[in-house]
Amino acid sequence: MSKLPNITTSIFTVMSKMAAEHNAINLSQGFPNFPVDEKLTEIVARLAKEDIHQYTPMAGYPPLMTKIANLVNRSYQRNIEPETELLVTTGATQGIFTTIQALVENQDEVIVLDPSYDCYEAPILLCNAKAIRVALNDDYTANWENIEAACTSKTKMIIINNPHNPTGKILNESDIEALENLLEKFPEIILLSDEVYEYITFEEKHISVHTRPQLRNRAVVISSFGKTFHITGWKIGYVVAPEQLMKEIKKVHQFLVFSVNSLAQAAISEYLDSVSIDEISIFFQQKRDYFRELLSKSRFELIPCEGTYFQVVSYKAISDENDVDFCKRLITEHGVAAIPISNFYENGKDLHLIRFCFAKDNATLEEAARRLCNV
Ligand code: PMP
Ligand code: GLN
Repeated sequence: MSKLPNITTSIFTVMSKMAAEHNAINLSQGFPNFPVDEKLTEIVARLAKEDIHQYTPMAGYPPLMTKIANLVNRSYQRNIEPETELLVTTGATQGIFTTIQALVENQDEVIVLDPSYDCYEAPILLCNAKAIRVALNDDYTANWENIEAACTSKTKMIIINNPHNPTGKILNESDIEALENLLEKFPEIILLSDEVYEYITFEEKHISVHTRPQLRNRAVVISSFGKTFHITGWKIGYVVAPEQLMKEIKKVHQFLVFSVNSLAQAAISEYLDSVSIDEISIFFQQKRDYFRELLSKSRFELIPCEGTYFQVVSYKAISDENDVDFCKRLITEHGVAAIPISNFYENGKDLHLIRFCFAKDNATLEEAARRLCNV
Protein backbone atom coordinates (compact mmCIF):
# COMPACT_ATOMS: atom_id res chain seq x y z
CA MET A 1 0.00 0.00 0.00
CA SER A 2 1.23 3.47 -0.83
CA LYS A 3 -0.52 6.80 -0.42
CA LEU A 4 1.71 8.22 -3.17
CA PRO A 5 2.25 5.34 -5.60
CA ASN A 6 3.51 7.51 -8.45
CA ILE A 7 5.83 9.74 -6.46
CA THR A 8 9.47 8.68 -6.71
CA THR A 9 12.74 10.04 -5.28
CA SER A 10 13.14 13.67 -6.33
CA ILE A 11 15.32 14.27 -9.38
CA PHE A 12 17.36 16.75 -7.29
CA THR A 13 18.35 13.96 -4.91
CA VAL A 14 19.05 11.54 -7.75
CA MET A 15 21.26 13.92 -9.72
CA SER A 16 23.15 15.36 -6.75
CA LYS A 17 23.91 11.84 -5.52
CA MET A 18 25.10 10.76 -8.93
CA ALA A 19 27.22 13.91 -9.26
CA ALA A 20 28.91 13.14 -5.93
CA GLU A 21 29.50 9.49 -6.86
CA HIS A 22 31.23 10.51 -10.10
CA ASN A 23 32.96 13.56 -8.67
CA ALA A 24 31.19 15.71 -11.28
CA ILE A 25 30.64 19.47 -11.10
CA ASN A 26 27.15 19.72 -9.67
CA LEU A 27 25.06 22.23 -11.61
CA SER A 28 21.92 20.14 -11.01
CA GLN A 29 20.23 20.85 -7.66
CA GLY A 30 19.80 24.59 -7.11
CA PHE A 31 22.16 25.81 -4.41
CA PRO A 32 25.07 28.25 -4.33
CA ASN A 33 28.63 26.94 -3.80
CA PHE A 34 30.15 30.26 -2.74
CA PRO A 35 30.65 31.23 0.90
CA VAL A 36 27.85 32.83 2.87
CA ASP A 37 28.31 36.53 3.71
CA GLU A 38 30.77 36.77 6.62
CA LYS A 39 28.47 39.24 8.34
CA LEU A 40 25.90 36.47 8.60
CA THR A 41 28.29 33.83 9.94
CA GLU A 42 29.60 36.32 12.51
CA ILE A 43 26.06 37.01 13.67
CA VAL A 44 25.43 33.27 14.04
CA ALA A 45 28.64 32.76 16.04
CA ARG A 46 27.76 35.57 18.41
CA LEU A 47 24.09 34.68 18.79
CA ALA A 48 24.95 31.03 19.44
CA LYS A 49 26.34 32.10 22.81
CA GLU A 50 23.14 33.91 23.74
CA ASP A 51 19.79 32.76 25.05
CA ILE A 52 18.27 31.85 21.70
CA HIS A 53 18.07 28.07 21.80
CA GLN A 54 14.52 27.36 22.89
CA TYR A 55 11.20 27.36 21.01
CA THR A 56 10.20 30.63 19.45
CA PRO A 57 6.51 31.56 19.41
CA MET A 58 4.62 29.30 17.03
CA ALA A 59 4.29 31.73 14.09
CA GLY A 60 7.88 32.96 14.28
CA TYR A 61 10.54 34.85 16.24
CA PRO A 62 8.85 38.23 16.88
CA PRO A 63 11.79 40.49 15.88
CA LEU A 64 12.14 38.56 12.61
CA MET A 65 8.43 38.89 11.94
CA THR A 66 8.66 42.66 12.32
CA LYS A 67 11.66 42.76 9.96
CA ILE A 68 9.83 40.63 7.37
CA ALA A 69 6.84 42.97 7.54
CA ASN A 70 9.24 45.90 6.97
CA LEU A 71 10.86 44.07 4.06
CA VAL A 72 7.52 43.37 2.39
CA ASN A 73 6.62 47.01 2.90
CA ARG A 74 9.91 48.27 1.50
CA SER A 75 9.85 45.95 -1.49
CA TYR A 76 6.16 46.05 -2.35
CA GLN A 77 4.54 48.87 -0.37
CA ARG A 78 2.25 46.37 1.30
CA ASN A 79 1.46 46.67 4.98
CA ILE A 80 1.10 43.31 6.64
CA GLU A 81 0.14 42.58 10.20
CA PRO A 82 2.78 40.15 11.53
CA GLU A 83 0.45 38.86 14.26
CA THR A 84 -2.25 37.71 11.89
CA GLU A 85 -0.89 37.60 8.34
CA LEU A 86 2.61 36.13 8.60
CA LEU A 87 4.10 32.72 9.33
CA VAL A 88 7.79 31.73 9.36
CA THR A 89 8.27 28.23 7.96
CA THR A 90 10.92 25.56 7.51
CA GLY A 91 11.69 26.74 4.01
CA ALA A 92 9.20 27.46 1.27
CA THR A 93 8.57 23.73 0.93
CA GLN A 94 6.93 23.54 4.34
CA GLY A 95 5.02 26.76 3.67
CA ILE A 96 3.61 25.28 0.47
CA PHE A 97 2.84 21.89 2.01
CA THR A 98 1.17 23.46 5.03
CA THR A 99 -0.90 25.84 2.91
CA ILE A 100 -2.17 23.09 0.67
CA GLN A 101 -2.96 20.78 3.60
CA ALA A 102 -4.83 23.56 5.36
CA LEU A 103 -6.89 24.88 2.45
CA VAL A 104 -7.45 22.10 -0.10
CA GLU A 105 -10.15 19.53 0.56
CA ASN A 106 -11.13 16.07 -0.62
CA GLN A 107 -12.02 16.07 -4.36
CA ASP A 108 -10.99 19.69 -4.87
CA GLU A 109 -9.08 20.61 -8.00
CA VAL A 110 -5.87 22.62 -7.96
CA ILE A 111 -4.48 24.16 -11.12
CA VAL A 112 -0.78 23.56 -11.54
CA LEU A 113 1.08 24.83 -14.58
CA ASP A 114 3.07 22.43 -16.74
CA PRO A 115 6.09 22.39 -16.45
CA SER A 116 6.27 23.08 -12.71
CA TYR A 117 8.63 22.68 -9.77
CA ASP A 118 8.07 19.34 -8.05
CA CYS A 119 6.77 20.22 -4.58
CA TYR A 120 3.10 20.97 -5.35
CA GLU A 121 1.80 17.62 -6.53
CA ALA A 122 2.38 15.42 -3.45
CA PRO A 123 0.60 17.67 -0.92
CA ILE A 124 -2.35 17.95 -3.31
CA LEU A 125 -2.56 14.17 -3.61
CA LEU A 126 -2.37 13.78 0.18
CA CYS A 127 -5.53 15.92 0.41
CA ASN A 128 -7.27 13.46 -1.92
CA ALA A 129 -7.52 16.35 -4.33
CA LYS A 130 -6.60 16.53 -7.98
CA ALA A 131 -3.81 18.52 -9.66
CA ILE A 132 -5.09 19.82 -12.99
CA ARG A 133 -2.09 20.53 -15.17
CA VAL A 134 -2.35 23.36 -17.70
CA ALA A 135 0.46 23.59 -20.25
CA LEU A 136 2.46 26.77 -20.61
CA ASN A 137 2.85 28.08 -24.17
CA ASP A 138 5.92 26.99 -26.14
CA ASP A 139 7.78 30.13 -25.05
CA TYR A 140 6.81 29.36 -21.40
CA THR A 141 4.36 32.21 -21.13
CA ALA A 142 1.15 31.35 -19.30
CA ASN A 143 -1.85 30.49 -21.44
CA TRP A 144 -4.57 32.35 -19.52
CA GLU A 145 -7.36 31.18 -21.83
CA ASN A 146 -6.50 27.56 -21.14
CA ILE A 147 -6.12 28.25 -17.44
CA GLU A 148 -9.56 29.84 -17.38
CA ALA A 149 -11.00 26.94 -19.36
CA ALA A 150 -9.61 24.55 -16.72
CA CYS A 151 -11.38 26.37 -13.86
CA THR A 152 -14.52 24.61 -12.63
CA SER A 153 -16.75 24.78 -9.58
CA LYS A 154 -14.31 22.29 -8.00
CA THR A 155 -11.25 24.50 -8.45
CA LYS A 156 -10.00 25.48 -5.00
CA MET A 157 -6.63 26.93 -5.87
CA ILE A 158 -4.35 28.10 -8.68
CA ILE A 159 -0.62 27.77 -8.10
CA ILE A 160 1.75 30.11 -9.87
CA ASN A 161 5.53 30.28 -9.54
CA ASN A 162 7.05 33.62 -10.48
CA PRO A 163 9.96 33.81 -11.36
CA HIS A 164 9.53 30.31 -12.72
CA ASN A 165 11.61 27.27 -11.93
CA PRO A 166 12.88 25.71 -14.21
CA THR A 167 12.38 28.05 -17.18
CA GLY A 168 13.47 31.37 -15.64
CA LYS A 169 10.37 33.03 -17.11
CA ILE A 170 8.71 35.90 -15.24
CA LEU A 171 5.15 37.18 -15.41
CA ASN A 172 4.73 40.61 -17.01
CA GLU A 173 2.09 43.29 -16.44
CA SER A 174 -0.35 41.81 -18.95
CA ASP A 175 -0.02 38.36 -17.33
CA ILE A 176 -0.83 39.81 -13.94
CA GLU A 177 -3.81 41.66 -15.39
CA ALA A 178 -5.02 38.48 -17.07
CA LEU A 179 -4.77 36.70 -13.73
CA GLU A 180 -6.73 39.47 -12.02
CA ASN A 181 -9.45 39.29 -14.66
CA LEU A 182 -9.62 35.53 -14.41
CA LEU A 183 -9.88 35.48 -10.64
CA GLU A 184 -12.56 38.14 -10.71
CA LYS A 185 -14.73 35.61 -12.53
CA PHE A 186 -14.04 32.92 -9.90
CA PRO A 187 -14.41 34.55 -6.49
CA GLU A 188 -13.88 31.31 -4.58
CA ILE A 189 -10.47 30.40 -5.98
CA ILE A 190 -7.42 30.94 -3.75
CA LEU A 191 -4.13 31.92 -5.35
CA LEU A 192 -0.90 30.33 -4.14
CA SER A 193 2.00 32.41 -5.44
CA ASP A 194 5.40 30.79 -5.05
CA GLU A 195 7.81 33.73 -5.29
CA VAL A 196 10.96 32.20 -3.84
CA TYR A 197 13.09 33.81 -6.58
CA GLU A 198 11.47 37.24 -6.09
CA TYR A 199 14.84 38.95 -5.58
CA ILE A 200 16.51 37.28 -8.57
CA THR A 201 15.20 38.97 -11.73
CA PHE A 202 17.15 40.64 -14.48
CA GLU A 203 16.06 43.04 -17.26
CA GLU A 204 12.43 43.13 -16.12
CA LYS A 205 11.39 43.79 -12.56
CA HIS A 206 9.50 41.16 -10.59
CA ILE A 207 5.78 41.94 -10.23
CA SER A 208 4.76 40.47 -6.91
CA VAL A 209 1.25 39.49 -5.98
CA HIS A 210 2.00 41.58 -2.86
CA THR A 211 1.65 44.72 -5.02
CA ARG A 212 -1.83 43.88 -6.34
CA PRO A 213 -4.70 44.49 -3.89
CA GLN A 214 -7.14 42.43 -5.96
CA LEU A 215 -4.86 39.40 -5.81
CA ARG A 216 -3.23 39.64 -2.40
CA ASN A 217 -6.56 39.70 -0.58
CA ARG A 218 -7.11 36.11 -1.67
CA ALA A 219 -3.54 34.92 -2.06
CA VAL A 220 -0.96 33.01 -0.09
CA VAL A 221 2.48 34.32 -1.03
CA ILE A 222 5.52 32.14 -0.39
CA SER A 223 9.10 33.39 0.06
CA SER A 224 12.41 31.76 1.01
CA PHE A 225 15.53 33.20 2.62
CA GLY A 226 17.34 30.16 1.23
CA LYS A 227 17.38 31.72 -2.24
CA THR A 228 17.72 35.32 -1.18
CA PHE A 229 20.69 34.95 1.18
CA HIS A 230 22.46 31.90 -0.34
CA ILE A 231 21.48 29.73 2.64
CA THR A 232 19.37 26.94 1.16
CA GLY A 233 20.41 24.56 3.97
CA TRP A 234 18.99 26.80 6.68
CA LYS A 235 15.47 26.09 5.43
CA ILE A 236 13.84 29.32 6.54
CA GLY A 237 10.96 30.73 4.51
CA TYR A 238 7.77 32.60 5.17
CA VAL A 239 4.15 32.73 4.17
CA VAL A 240 1.97 35.85 3.91
CA ALA A 241 -1.79 35.46 3.70
CA PRO A 242 -4.96 37.31 4.71
CA GLU A 243 -6.02 36.60 8.27
CA GLN A 244 -8.86 34.18 7.49
CA LEU A 245 -6.58 31.97 5.37
CA MET A 246 -3.65 32.32 7.76
CA LYS A 247 -5.80 31.12 10.65
CA GLU A 248 -6.28 27.80 8.88
CA ILE A 249 -2.63 27.57 7.77
CA LYS A 250 -1.44 28.07 11.35
CA LYS A 251 -3.67 25.23 12.56
CA VAL A 252 -1.67 22.82 10.39
CA HIS A 253 1.68 24.49 11.04
CA GLN A 254 1.41 24.08 14.79
CA PHE A 255 1.12 20.31 14.49
CA LEU A 256 3.55 19.88 11.63
CA VAL A 257 6.55 21.73 13.11
CA PHE A 258 5.06 24.03 15.77
CA SER A 259 7.93 26.51 15.37
CA VAL A 260 11.04 26.98 13.28
CA ASN A 261 14.80 26.95 14.08
CA SER A 262 15.35 29.75 16.61
CA LEU A 263 19.02 30.52 15.97
CA ALA A 264 18.51 30.78 12.21
CA GLN A 265 15.51 33.08 12.68
CA ALA A 266 17.40 35.35 15.08
CA ALA A 267 20.43 35.52 12.78
CA ILE A 268 18.35 36.39 9.71
CA SER A 269 16.48 38.97 11.74
CA GLU A 270 19.70 40.78 12.60
CA TYR A 271 21.21 40.31 9.15
CA LEU A 272 18.20 41.94 7.50
CA ASP A 273 19.32 45.26 9.01
CA SER A 274 22.59 45.30 7.14
CA VAL A 275 21.97 43.60 3.82
CA SER A 276 21.09 45.32 0.57
CA ILE A 277 18.53 43.08 -1.04
CA ASP A 278 18.57 44.85 -4.41
CA GLU A 279 22.16 43.78 -4.99
CA ILE A 280 21.14 40.13 -5.24
CA SER A 281 19.68 40.55 -8.72
CA ILE A 282 22.77 42.43 -9.90
CA PHE A 283 25.01 39.69 -8.50
CA PHE A 284 23.07 36.92 -10.24
CA GLN A 285 22.69 38.86 -13.48
CA GLN A 286 26.49 38.95 -13.72
CA LYS A 287 26.58 35.20 -13.09
CA ARG A 288 23.93 34.58 -15.72
CA ASP A 289 25.70 36.75 -18.31
CA TYR A 290 29.06 35.16 -17.59
CA PHE A 291 27.72 31.61 -17.79
CA ARG A 292 25.81 32.35 -20.99
CA GLU A 293 28.90 33.88 -22.54
CA LEU A 294 30.98 30.84 -21.59
CA LEU A 295 28.37 28.50 -23.08
CA SER A 296 28.01 30.53 -26.27
CA LYS A 297 31.04 28.62 -27.57
CA SER A 298 29.33 25.26 -26.96
CA ARG A 299 26.81 23.36 -29.07
CA PHE A 300 24.08 23.90 -26.47
CA GLU A 301 21.33 26.33 -27.41
CA LEU A 302 20.45 28.72 -24.60
CA ILE A 303 16.86 29.75 -23.92
CA PRO A 304 16.23 33.23 -22.47
CA CYS A 305 16.57 33.53 -18.69
CA GLU A 306 14.63 36.41 -17.09
CA GLY A 307 14.98 35.39 -13.45
CA THR A 308 16.00 32.58 -11.01
CA TYR A 309 19.52 31.12 -11.03
CA PHE A 310 18.78 28.49 -13.63
CA GLN A 311 19.74 28.34 -17.28
CA VAL A 312 17.80 25.97 -19.52
CA VAL A 313 19.55 24.75 -22.66
CA SER A 314 18.61 22.56 -25.58
CA TYR A 315 20.96 19.76 -26.58
CA LYS A 316 19.10 18.97 -29.82
CA ALA A 317 22.20 19.80 -31.87
CA ILE A 318 24.23 17.30 -29.85
CA SER A 319 22.17 14.18 -29.27
CA ASP A 320 18.74 12.62 -29.69
CA GLU A 321 18.91 10.70 -26.41
CA ASN A 322 16.13 11.31 -23.91
CA ASP A 323 16.99 14.01 -21.39
CA VAL A 324 17.44 11.67 -18.41
CA ASP A 325 19.93 9.48 -20.29
CA PHE A 326 21.65 12.57 -21.64
CA CYS A 327 22.04 13.98 -18.11
CA LYS A 328 23.43 10.68 -16.86
CA ARG A 329 25.97 10.56 -19.69
CA LEU A 330 26.86 14.20 -19.07
CA ILE A 331 27.86 13.16 -15.56
CA THR A 332 29.69 9.94 -16.38
CA GLU A 333 31.45 11.06 -19.58
CA HIS A 334 31.84 14.81 -19.12
CA GLY A 335 31.77 15.38 -15.36
CA VAL A 336 28.92 17.91 -15.23
CA ALA A 337 25.53 17.34 -13.57
CA ALA A 338 22.30 18.96 -14.81
CA ILE A 339 18.56 18.42 -14.32
CA PRO A 340 16.43 16.90 -17.10
CA ILE A 341 13.43 19.16 -17.77
CA SER A 342 11.08 16.21 -18.45
CA ASN A 343 10.87 15.84 -14.66
CA PHE A 344 8.94 19.09 -14.38
CA TYR A 345 6.20 17.86 -16.74
CA GLU A 346 3.21 15.85 -15.60
CA ASN A 347 3.74 13.23 -18.30
CA GLY A 348 7.51 13.45 -18.51
CA LYS A 349 7.44 15.34 -21.80
CA ASP A 350 10.95 15.30 -23.24
CA LEU A 351 11.92 18.30 -25.35
CA HIS A 352 15.68 17.63 -25.13
CA LEU A 353 16.10 20.38 -22.58
CA ILE A 354 18.21 20.38 -19.42
CA ARG A 355 18.72 22.88 -16.60
CA PHE A 356 22.00 24.19 -15.18
CA CYS A 357 22.28 26.10 -11.89
CA PHE A 358 24.63 29.07 -12.30
CA ALA A 359 24.75 30.02 -8.60
CA LYS A 360 28.39 28.97 -8.52
CA ASP A 361 31.75 30.72 -8.17
CA ASN A 362 33.35 31.77 -11.44
CA ALA A 363 36.06 29.08 -11.32
CA THR A 364 33.35 26.39 -11.14
CA LEU A 365 31.38 27.97 -13.99
CA GLU A 366 34.54 28.21 -16.10
CA GLU A 367 35.54 24.59 -15.56
CA ALA A 368 31.97 23.39 -16.16
CA ALA A 369 31.78 25.43 -19.37
CA ARG A 370 35.17 24.10 -20.51
CA ARG A 371 33.81 20.57 -20.15
CA LEU A 372 30.47 21.46 -21.75
CA CYS A 373 32.20 23.00 -24.76
CA ASN A 374 33.65 19.55 -25.45
CA VAL A 375 30.25 17.85 -25.52
N1 PMP B 1 9.64 26.69 -4.82
C1 PMP B 1 10.51 26.69 -5.84
C2 PMP B 1 10.07 27.18 -7.16
C3 PMP B 1 11.81 26.25 -5.63
O1 PMP B 1 12.68 26.24 -6.64
C4 PMP B 1 12.18 25.78 -4.35
C5 PMP B 1 13.52 25.21 -4.04
N2 PMP B 1 14.53 25.62 -4.57
C6 PMP B 1 11.24 25.83 -3.32
C7 PMP B 1 9.97 26.26 -3.60
C8 PMP B 1 11.59 25.35 -1.94
O2 PMP B 1 12.31 26.28 -1.24
P1 PMP B 1 12.94 25.95 0.19
O3 PMP B 1 14.30 25.39 -0.06
O4 PMP B 1 12.99 27.26 0.91
O5 PMP B 1 12.07 24.96 0.86
N1 GLN C 1 14.59 23.95 -5.61
C1 GLN C 1 15.83 23.31 -5.86
C2 GLN C 1 16.01 23.17 -7.36
O1 GLN C 1 15.12 23.46 -8.13
C3 GLN C 1 15.90 21.94 -5.25
C4 GLN C 1 15.54 21.82 -3.83
C5 GLN C 1 15.43 20.38 -3.45
O2 GLN C 1 16.31 19.61 -3.73
N2 GLN C 1 14.35 20.03 -2.87
O3 GLN C 1 17.04 22.74 -7.77
